[in-house]
Amino acid sequence: LKKYSLKRKDRTLFLQPLFVYPEKLPLALTTLSVHWFFNAFEDALPDLLTSDNEKGVFSGKYLNDSPVVFVSLSYGANLINFVNMMKNRGIPVLKKERDSGMYPVFICGGIAAMLNPHAFTEIFDAVFVGEGECMENDIKKILSMETREDLFSFMDNLSYCYTKNKKSAEIVRADNGGFFVHSNPKLHSMGNNFDNRLMMELNRSCTSRCKFCAAAYTYKTFRIPQREKVIDYVKAALKNNSGIALMGTSLGSVSYFDEILELAAYKNSSISLSSLKIKEINENRLKLLKKCGVKTVTVAIESANYSTRKEILKDIPDSRIIDAMKLIKKYDFKSKLYFMAGLPFTDPETEAKSVAKLISLIDENNGLGEVVLSVAPFVPKNMTPFSSFKLMKKKEYKKYMQTLRKSLQSLRRNIKVDFFSYKDSELDQLLGFADGEVLQKIIREAHDSSG
Ligand code: SF4
Repeated sequence: LKKYSLKRKDRTLFLQPLFVYPEKLPLALTTLSVHWFFNAFEDALPDLLTSDNEKGVFSGKYLNDSPVVFVSLSYGANLINFVNMMKNRGIPVLKKERDSGMYPVFICGGIAAMLNPHAFTEIFDAVFVGEGECMENDIKKILSMETREDLFSFMDNLSYCYTKNKKSAEIVRADNGGFFVHSNPKLHSMGNNFDNRLMMELNRSCTSRCKFCAAAYTYKTFRIPQREKVIDYVKAALKNNSGIALMGTSLGSVSYFDEILELAAYKNSSISLSSLKIKEINENRLKLLKKCGVKTVTVAIESANYSTRKEILKDIPDSRIIDAMKLIKKYDFKSKLYFMAGLPFTDPETEAKSVAKLISLIDENNGLGEVVLSVAPFVPKNMTPFSSFKLMKKKEYKKYMQTLRKSLQSLRRNIKVDFFSYKDSELDQLLGFADGEVLQKIIREAHDSSG
């Protein structure tokens, strides 16, 4: 073991940080928070470590090579991957088992940490809650510090930081127009899961307020980046013949969304979209998307039952869904429809049957093109109106699956359905609500099952 000092031998301005995204490299390269970090701190020459690489991809740093390590956690499963990464380097997972000064300072952020920060301080020296733009200047100060004592006393005074001793903090959020996250050139050169299109974030939070959704309730007000910055970035991307990947929860509500589509269509450039809401689909947009080579339109319907949709605050009538599907078919797009099983106050069999009924109704109205259904169990999230409900039982999920498969067989079409893993949903729920003790148990089990 060595003592970790923050002192730089060569007196360079910044410590070289290690950024960990505990997923496989291609997914990390497709994740905007990773790009944000590399854009914001490129002067400090950060290294990137992922769960499928033992060493950082740029400077070959191991997990215990850098005095300050930043970890971004999007899902519960990320934490388990990170625990295994620590274990592989012989680093004690629990903060209390890491002697002061003998291991790097581990700081985590990301939505999974934001939803259950107290518990995560069992592992991390600090948990930052909120949006990176509001932390940028503080992180630069952290990277210029010379002693761990300075670093810890600085973090104890940050409003958005939890530590083992600091048990309250406030989520910080960027102003409307105060952010614009896009691909980092160095990371972009390594490719991504969007056929190497340049990625950009077009909104935060959401214009809807679905009762189960953490995006809406943690990020609060709907916000967009400044139009000029985005349009300039899009124009530069189109000039270089780079495709663009638009990411956000309410793309069609972004005031300059159509302008981007028109610019891209004019140049016959390729676009990909995270998803569109039913109410954001119209003929003009689909025409433009067709010109931009989009093949599949992804839409989250959540429940095929209108009364359930109303209950979760996704108040879209069947007629609106059918109209959107007819347009999608007219322009010969494939579609991917998302549904949620086990929403509060619902019965699995009734919900599953209603999916098949809705698909049949769409078909009768000549709106069914090539479609794939994707079903995930409802997982309660802290801070949402549905936080006190529970994940459905495994046997109920199985019942939903069986009923849906059977009901779809009675249709005259072959419909493909993907089901999200129950195990991962269970882990998400556990980590989202675990207290320190439960978290330690989960960590022990992760150790046992991987070792
Ligand atoms: S539309 Fe999607 S992102 Fe928006 S609140 Fe509903 S589930 Fe969340």
